[in-house]
Amino acid sequence: MPRKKLIAANWKMYKTPEQTTLFLQEFLPLVASHERDEIVVCVPYVDLHAAVAAAAGSNVAIGAQNMHWEKEGAFTGEISAPMLTYLGVTHVIIGHSERRQYFNETDDTVNRKLELALESGLTPIACVGEVLEEREAGLSEDVLRRQCMRAFNGISARKAARLTVAYEPVWCIGTGKTATPQMAADAHLVIRGEAAKAFGQEFADNLRILYGGSVKPDNASALMAEEEIDGTLVGGASLDPKSFSKIVKY
Ligand code: PEP
Repeated sequence: MPRKKLIAANWKMYKTPEQTTLFLQEFLPLVASHERDEIVVCVPYVDLHAAVAAAAGSNVAIGAQNMHWEKEGAFTGEISAPMLTYLGVTHVIIGHSERRQYFNETDDTVNRKLELALESGLTPIACVGEVLEEREAGLSEDVLRRQCMRAFNGISARKAARLTVAYEPVWCIGTGKTATPQMAADAHLVIRGEAAKAFGQEFADNLRILYGGSVKPDNASALMAEEEIDGTLVGGASLDPKSFSKIVKY
């Protein structure tokens, strides 16, 4: 069975609740008849409530961009998985490179967050990817193997069922540079190999691996034509309803 593709938006730190509602009012009719792929929009925490309300009953799911690894506790400023599910959030991005770069996210915290997200019924989108220096030093494969091995550590195949991975070469994020479909496919095979080691071959064959990094309306179809690419994680180009709908409909 072919894997159903997932097209995900990552708004990063953009848009207020009011702008979120306006975006969805324009975006939802543009994709209302789109059944081929799953669609998820990952918004800032303060926009989640407005997003879930505006998207209710539609074919668009709402995701968060991060969560804490504990269910509750003395963690000032943090948000937990139960808080997200209570709001009607179904997806969560874990380990985005911006969180690794600016907020001390590590392979270990990614692992702990993945475990809790899965246990809580959320669909985590676990981000992995090499920085430019690592690619230029020929270390991309080693980096992906390490990130996946540690992220998947100790999680059972049964528990991991909803896991989704996004390959996001850091040198492509927000830079206008895109990995070629072949580069992405090669990286996805490495990730799929690590998933097979951790969870078994059947799981790995069904695992959705998205590509992220300067996906735009004009390069989405070339990327999506690659069999190994099971969807996209889109930053900048997801902020405009028309642009993101073109990517969804690639
Ligand atoms: C991202 O934020 O995950 C991303 C891929 O950003 P952009 O599409 O802007 O490169």
